[in-house]
Amino acid sequence: MSSNAKSAEVQESAAENSEQEYKPLKSSLIDSFNRQVRYLRLSVTDRCNLRCTYCMAEDMTFLPKSRVLSLEEMALVGRAFVELGVEKIRLTGGEPLVRKGIVELAENLSQLNGLRELVMTTNGVLLDKFAQPLNNAGVRRLNISIDSLKAERFRELTRFGVVEDVFRGIDAARQAGFQRIKLNAVVLKGINDDEVLNLTRFAIDKGLDISFIEEMPLGEITSHERAKTAVENVSIREQLDAEFGLEESDFHDAASGPSRYVKISNSQTKVGFISPMSNNFCASCNRVRVTAEGKLLLCLGNEHSLDLRSILRERPGSLKDEIIQSMQRKPQKHEFDPNDITITRHMSATGG
Ligand code: SAM
Ligand code: SF4
Repeated sequence: MSSNAKSAEVQESAAENSEQEYKPLKSSLIDSFNRQVRYLRLSVTDRCNLRCTYCMAEDMTFLPKSRVLSLEEMALVGRAFVELGVEKIRLTGGEPLVRKGIVELAENLSQLNGLRELVMTTNGVLLDKFAQPLNNAGVRRLNISIDSLKAERFRELTRFGVVEDVFRGIDAARQAGFQRIKLNAVVLKGINDDEVLNLTRFAIDKGLDISFIEEMPLGEITSHERAKTAVENVSIREQLDAEFGLEESDFHDAASGPSRYVKISNSQTKVGFISPMSNNFCASCNRVRVTAEGKLLLCLGNEHSLDLRSILRERPGSLKDEIIQSMQRKPQKHEFDPNDITITRHMSATGG
């Protein structure tokens, strides 16, 4: 048996173990490599209340309001994708919590028949206020980004952020009853790589999961040279194993495709490694992204896209057909080169 087939078998049985009742229907969104798209990342704004140095340039120009999808248009996009077989929607940005009406949008999407999971990625700054309303609106899981626990370093990395705001946000989220909360940390050599163990301890102490993300060369930045600050996740995994001991985890998020997790020994904390630079996971990609201006991006690392905004505004009746057809243009894989910015859009515009 090939190792791919073996790992698919392991995935399947893990999914069966954790979700006995779950029998996925075939998605209508099938690309030319026979991958089924089941996961939509919907960026609700390109704006943000932070300016993380790896994500944004110092001077950013944001979209004028007329080019951003309205909340009603976003709800229509979400509905179309769910009717076509998407089971999981992640609200993201920019910072999703700076978009006015985000709770109402969440409420609207969470009621879609066929959607198994509505989740969000946030920087946590505004969670103190929004955690409970989001949970009440049907958001079931949160990813909260935090790259440093040190006040001064956090401020530098985000250009003006206050880490205490995120701590308060995390605690509010823990009180609000989410099924799962996961921290996200982008690790950069010489900048925050000395905090890998402390960030993990923080997650363990708070009863949260954590993922480490390799920085991707999306958009021009000036704060650091990406090729020099790159950290491969394999080295983080070794550090964690030496310090805490790692166990294989049978946790598999059926709708999330490539994410794989290990568990910290003697704890509930699962650790994910998102390794777009060192370990291409495109063969099992099951996701697409829609930007705040309605661009359907078929791959994070390629420009292949479909302009949903003009379809919504000029010929809404063909929305689902055009989405189905666009799947044939989903590229086989991304090719990132940290020395070369082939993708000029920043992560904040892409919807991470
Ligand atoms: N503002 C929210 C946040 O920070 O969680 C949501 C949007 S942000 C673009 C989503 C995720 O992308 C964050 O975890 C962030 O750390 C990550 N990210 C941003 N720029 C990145 C890059 N160039 N490479 C890898 N991850 C990046
Ligand atoms: Fe904003 Fe998130 Fe980008 Fe940081 S990573 S600048 S919080 S969008």
